[in-house]
Amino acid sequence: MIRRTKQKEAIVSVLKKKHQPMPIEEIHQMALKAVPSLGIATVYRTLKSLLEEGCIKIVELPGKPLHYEEAHKGHHHHFCCNTCHGVFELEKCPSGIHQLAPKGFQVTDHEIILYGTCADCTTS
Ligand SMILES: [Zn+2]
Ligand SMILES: [Zn+2]
Repeated sequence: MIRRTKQKEAIVSVLKKKHQPMPIEEIHQMALKAVPSLGIATVYRTLKSLLEEGCIKIVELPGKPLHYEEAHKGHHHHFCCNTCHGVFELEKCPSGIHQLAPKGFQVTDHEIILYGTCADCTTS
């Protein structure tokens, strides 16, 4: 049985609501609205146990703090906004990307990160 504390519920629902990977500070800020007494140490501990349970996963982006997202989403990629530093999910994965590898090479995985300006930052 997985024991779900109020803190844990708050953190899970933050990640669910936002639909995009978030750094720990942002998760903390949003979860504070539900659990005002929530400390950053508890957020760290809770994220660690959610990782161990396989509920969330880490998104590593060069030059950024670790981001966390729900684990069940399957293969996808990310867009990093250079203005607000938000990280957004991309739905599509380009086909044929594995053909970029030289002849005789076997590709087992790939990472794609798009950089630019998000819609909100473009219009404001
Ligand atoms: Zn932006
Ligand atoms: Zn892909």
